[in-house]
Amino acid sequence: MELSHRITRINDGGSDGWDLFRKARRMIASGVPVVELTIGEHDIRTDPRILDAMDRAARGGHTGYAAVAGTDALRAEIAHRVAAQSGVATTPENVLVVPGGQAGLFMAHMAACEPGDAALYVDPYYATYPGTLRAAGARAIAVAARPEHGFVPQAGDIEAAIDAAGGPVRSLLINSPNNPTGAVYDRAALERIGAVCERRDLWLISDEVYEGQVWEGAHLSPRALPGLAQRSLVVGSMSKGHAMTGSRVGWIIGPAEAIVALEDLATNMTYGLPGFIQDAALHALRLGPVFEAEIAAPFRRRREIARRLVAAQEVVRAVPMQGAMYALLDIRATGLSGEAFAEALLERERIAVMPGESFGQAARGHVRVALTVEDARLEAALARLLALAGELAEKRGP
Ligand code: PMP
Repeated sequence: MELSHRITRINDGGSDGWDLFRKARRMIASGVPVVELTIGEHDIRTDPRILDAMDRAARGGHTGYAAVAGTDALRAEIAHRVAAQSGVATTPENVLVVPGGQAGLFMAHMAACEPGDAALYVDPYYATYPGTLRAAGARAIAVAARPEHGFVPQAGDIEAAIDAAGGPVRSLLINSPNNPTGAVYDRAALERIGAVCERRDLWLISDEVYEGQVWEGAHLSPRALPGLAQRSLVVGSMSKGHAMTGSRVGWIIGPAEAIVALEDLATNMTYGLPGFIQDAALHALRLGPVFEAEIAAPFRRRREIARRLVAAQEVVRAVPMQGAMYALLDIRATGLSGEAFAEALLERERIAVMPGESFGQAARGHVRVALTVEDARLEAALARLLALAGELAEKRGP
């Protein structure tokens, strides 16, 4: 039977960017010890206090269908958090609880785009973005954010992409703190981006799943800028900030009328989230900022390790790591692509990192190292990575 184009074109016939990750997982499954620095997952598990809350809720009977838009208590807690952090009035009617940030991204684009309309995203990008936009029926168009601009997209480049789209453009997806670059967009950058969205009447879809992992500067949601709340859909998640990747809890914040429409989508797609997971998420949010700082602490520490090691040699350069749980390393001095370097590192050193090309053309010649193994192991792996880069650069000659 024929499958729909909508589903067979999700990856546009190409790779989904995860080939090296899958190869590393196959090696591990066959008994080869590989240091995995690929996906953004903590090396700790979900806190027992959160699991206890989940258990209590399930045993207490919260195992039936839960409210599709999210429980009243969880929506209220998220609204309170967002209002306190952003300074923007936010009520439960502005909140839809969704099964993870990934679902939130898909649903936000379903809300913003007519089938066949263009949706913009910034390159380098989190590997699912183009597929997510296509899955939602949009034409996915990349706007390059260049290393010389600190990987922040420029207003002129966004305008040029809109002019070249050859059809209606409905949305722009941004992500700060950024995966994979670690860039944190400052107020001026967000104002310039917001001004383009206003001028060209775009939805601004803001992926803020790393909001709690900022090492330099401060997190600012574009929804907090004057005039932008009405055109913003903000995606948040419990995955990164609370070490709850497997629980699949996130949210969309938007204008109340958008949330009502998105609830219709949820009713017909997921029918909401398990009540016991929502109760666990509520408990996790109430653990407060001290708990979130604890979850973020290892990445702050490991970022310093990466900075120290990179500063001690001259071949590999680190992109400023302002936020998130990764180090993006520029390995162009080796003469290899990110893919070839990652492949060589896996074959020779049994270390798996993500090729920059998995995140788009603007990150070619880079590799992304997830800071997700214990400090000493990370330090040793980074030292071997840098030594291999040094060897390759030397072989290549001046
Ligand atoms: N956005 C970005 C930038 C991410 O890196 C991720 C996960 N790695 C997600 C969204 C999705 O996160 P989740 O679905 O676990 O909330």
